Amino acid sequence: MDTHALPALTVYLAAPRGFCAGVDRAIKIVEMALEKWGAPVFVRHEIVHNKYVVDDLRAKGAVFVDELDECPDDRPVIFSAHGVPKAVPAEAARRQMLYVDATCPLVSKVHIEAARHQENGLQMVMIGHDGHPETVGTMGQLPEGEVLLVETVEDVAHLKVRDPQHLAFVTQTTLSVDDTAEIVAALQARFPAIVGPHKEDICYATTNRQEAVKALAPKADALLVVGAPNSSNSKRLVEVGRKAGCSYAQLVQRAADIDWRALQGVTSIGVTAGASAPEVLIDEVIEALRSRYTVTVQPVTTAEENVEFKVPRVLREPA
Ligand code: SF4
Repeated sequence: MDTHALPALTVYLAAPRGFCAGVDRAIKIVEMALEKWGAPVFVRHEIVHNKYVVDDLRAKGAVFVDELDECPDDRPVIFSAHGVPKAVPAEAARRQMLYVDATCPLVSKVHIEAARHQENGLQMVMIGHDGHPETVGTMGQLPEGEVLLVETVEDVAHLKVRDPQHLAFVTQTTLSVDDTAEIVAALQARFPAIVGPHKEDICYATTNRQEAVKALAPKADALLVVGAPNSSNSKRLVEVGRKAGCSYAQLVQRAADIDWRALQGVTSIGVTAGASAPEVLIDEVIEALRSRYTVTVQPVTTAEENVEFKVPRVLREPA
């Protein structure tokens, strides 16, 4: 193809983007479990919210299930990076199953906070998305009905609490930093005694990816976020991009999802990826752009990341 005939396109490539330390660790856990114990290894829920990653692990011998009762007693089972209600490992232990918990350490930290607040006699409020596995897992650290869920500022106005003097809050790790700040402010205005983390529990990876999008969105005619439709942090990147001034922002799982008609006439595109999207898919998207434009890539770097989490000891020990 004669590339001189192609229109020019500047790609503002966000950094950081894509895999975070928790996702990287969770995938390693499944791969190492397969190496150590052979196939099949069962995984409760998508290990991370990305079809490409899940399909790749499935091809290597992982079997994805929704619930523990779909797993045999005599094969290893892994719990996803989003975390699980307390009842799940308890049931695995009761059945004497070999299980490895791939819950991200930053999610586990929130679980510990929730338990500590309860020990201190505080009623818990969780800011999160109803039904998301992380919210289900965090709320499931305490007995059913103990945690009040709020998703919006409006929800705060309708909260019915036991005692406004004995309240605490935690948050999902993958929320919009700005929207969550508004909800926290509403909670603090209505319940001045509420106890919480210094700001919220949103993790470094979510925060950094949103910051990078905020930096590039005002310069770009359009934004492509590589990520899955069930990935909370990816969906938040689309919203953050729109709020930061990029009128067209699209979530794409792969290059085939790009809506080329919507991109007609653009001369610059921001590209980023949610924390569970592998770099190979970002490369695929950029290659697809190169097939239609003469692309110049300009990195937009707002932070350097060097976070790494160890895999559980059972996988580091020799078989
Ligand atoms: S997005 Fe944050 S909390 Fe979730 S797995 Fe990654 S580092 Fe952990």
